[in-house]
Amino acid sequence: MAQLAGVRARWRTEALGEFFCPACGGDRNYRRQGGRRWLRLLGLPLLPLGDAGTTLQCTACRARYGLDALGIPTSGTLLGMLRTAQFTVVLAVLAAGGACRAAREAAVTAVHEAGHSDLDEPQLLAALAALTDGDEELGELYGCGSGLAVELHTALEPLVPHLAEPGRERLLTLGAWIALADGPYRPDEREALRAAGRCLELSSERIEAALLAATRLPHS
Ligand SMILES: [Zn+2]
Repeated sequence: MAQLAGVRARWRTEALGEFFCPACGGDRNYRRQGGRRWLRLLGLPLLPLGDAGTTLQCTACRARYGLDALGIPTSGTLLGMLRTAQFTVVLAVLAAGGACRAAREAAVTAVHEAGHSDLDEPQLLAALAALTDGDEELGELYGCGSGLAVELHTALEPLVPHLAEPGRERLLTLGAWIALADGPYRPDEREALRAAGRCLELSSERIEAALLAATRLPHS
């Protein structure tokens, strides 16, 4: 008789969406489902036993997760976050070091490589002007315009849990190359890069090492 009776959940789909499925290792569709546990007899639901909670089921591999799986960004979302981060680091360095010709050219190349292929120099400078327009005191704290200090936090900090240390250092190196495009680091450029490194939760040793390494391995 024990083999004929059992408790199983019945699931009802409430919503569909896209998430990063850890079992598949990629972006997949999910079904968000609410469930109830049933006592089953001979395969038939006999008695409701209560709530089984809400889960996400991958439509590809059928693995089931809690709603916290939505906290992992999809690859598409992560790519968008990375592009925004790269763009913000570029702007922070330009704001700190002055947008001379060599730095502007390096910046446009960097944002193109970051995936903003449609962005030209006037648009970059307009974005820079919009962001550097702000409160001086807060700006001094971060070595760049206050709008940029806020932007750096907003753009970089959400990436930290999802990006390994070499990836975070790579973002810093990208900014360093722009600072170096018109000669050695200026004090303000160094401060802006350090501010970016702190937002990326890199230790001061790692930040200084990455800044030094960028001078030895110039961007080709
Ligand atoms: Zn899956």
